[in-house]
Amino acid sequence: MERTLVIVKPDAFEKGATGKIIDRFISEGFQIRALKLLRLTREQAEGFYAVHRERPFFGELVEFMTSGPVVAMVLEGQEAVKRVREIIGPTDSEEARRVAPDSLRALFGTDKGRNAVHASDSVESASYEIPFIFSQLEIV
Ligand code: UDP
Ligand code: MG
Repeated sequence: MERTLVIVKPDAFEKGATGKIIDRFISEGFQIRALKLLRLTREQAEGFYAVHRERPFFGELVEFMTSGPVVAMVLEGQEAVKRVREIIGPTDSEEARRVAPDSLRALFGTDKGRNAVHASDSVESASYEIPFIFSQLEIV
């Protein structure tokens, strides 16, 4: 069964949306295999988003992701990567409100930076991101 990494980002955690976001994934049929609250250090956020190091928004992204606590989880289900990406919606929350109004980024995000939820964008990304955040012992 496929696994993917989801992070409730600092904006969504701060506005108290964590429970609603977790509930959405449970009602969509995903199994939670790991779950924790953490605050990323600068080094951890830079490492997690290393593929984006050359992007103009990298500094802002690291600043945002370290600005407060996040809730990370491993979700499991059939085609979990693709289905979870559909549920979170497009990167830009403003676009999400136009094209996918029921998506989590439409419901809980603000714009293309503060977009409430991270999810692995491929099986390959998930295989980097899951062990980056969770040790083997934390995955049930
Ligand atoms: N991001 C940003 N400005 C942009 C594009 C992306 O701040 O112009 C942030 C946003 O938080 C996004 C993250 O960088 O979720 C990673 O970007 P990516 O293109 O991988 O989007 P995602 O896979 O998260 O939809
Ligand atoms: Mg991405």
